[in-house]
Amino acid sequence: MSKYWSAITENIRPYVPGEQPKDRKYIKLNTNENPYPPSPEVIKAIKQAANETLRLYPDPAGDDLRATLARYYEVKKEQVFVGNGSDEILAFSFPAFFTPGKPVLYPDITYSFYPVYCNLFHIDYELVPLDEEFTVPADAFYKKNGGIVLANPNAPTGKCMPLHSIRSILERNPDSVVIIDEAYIDFGGESAVAMIKEYPNLLVIQTLSKSRSLAGLRVGFALGHEDLIEGLRRIKDSMNSYTLDRLALAGAQEAIKDESYFRQTTKKIIALREKTSEELRRLGFKVIPSCANFIFISHQRCPAGELFQQLRGKGVLVRYFNLPRIDNYLRVTIGSDEEMSSFLKAVKESIAET
Ligand SMILES: *Cc1c(COP(=O)(O)O)cnc(C)c1O
Repeated sequence: MSKYWSAITENIRPYVPGEQPKDRKYIKLNTNENPYPPSPEVIKAIKQAANETLRLYPDPAGDDLRATLARYYEVKKEQVFVGNGSDEILAFSFPAFFTPGKPVLYPDITYSFYPVYCNLFHIDYELVPLDEEFTVPADAFYKKNGGIVLANPNAPTGKCMPLHSIRSILERNPDSVVIIDEAYIDFGGESAVAMIKEYPNLLVIQTLSKSRSLAGLRVGFALGHEDLIEGLRRIKDSMNSYTLDRLALAGAQEAIKDESYFRQTTKKIIALREKTSEELRRLGFKVIPSCANFIFISHQRCPAGELFQQLRGKGVLVRYFNLPRIDNYLRVTIGSDEEMSSFLKAVKESIAET
């Protein structure tokens, strides 16, 4: 608290990111980063862009990157928006499409940034309870609302929603914007991107942070009807016209173009996710079937909070959310082969100690 804070600053409840510790070297399985480096083409392009042109502002619209994304997803450039990470695009979306007094719907267990934006922009929300297996009940979204936000695959559960459920939610809500946050879609699940041509109220948001190994570059994008994209641009240009710098624009383009590299790395992560899930089940864990680059697990005997601390003591960082309904679960990012071997070794030791 400070007497210099505005009422806004005093009343917000900021998001708490997973820790990036500096005290010792951890095996970091807590923020869903990709264990593989970005494509060598990305590094090359960034190095090439690091020249005297940094004197100049970047293209405020990010047109070259938008054109690359438009070609890749077979949409028009006017249907693409680029932002400084998908978190920024989500942040723009709340004031762009949602209105105070008209509650937005999203699941009770989902990405914890959504309530932060609602709080910041004074947008009311109603939580839709997931069932015991963390399934999203599509029919709970067939009611009056001021907008809908769904992460697919969901976070932190990793569960994906069938496309026909998303289609029925879109059919029943022609008057609200439906945002599908597809941060993890490249690791499984069916993308809703093709449906943007059919539904003018659908906005699909993706990121280069996870499947393209570029969490440090801060690039996300959204695909939707031209009018939605124009809405996002109006908000962006009321805050900061140059959200993506020259280096990010240059690197992001190559990340999209190097399709084969990205296919290889995602394939490895998916295979290791399945293998790790199997091993954990053998060790007495419940593992929610995942379509993402992480798994959500709960041990039948060892409480998640204690396991989290034990693993931390052994140099393995995972994510623990001390929140209703999920306080006996751990979210574990799928790392490299070596990292997952060390993780499993630490898990076995921890269970034996409990
Ligand atoms: C990681 C994540 C994002 C944000 O990613 P950026 O790094 O900001 O692009 C958005 N939504 C979900 C569900 C995520 O897990």
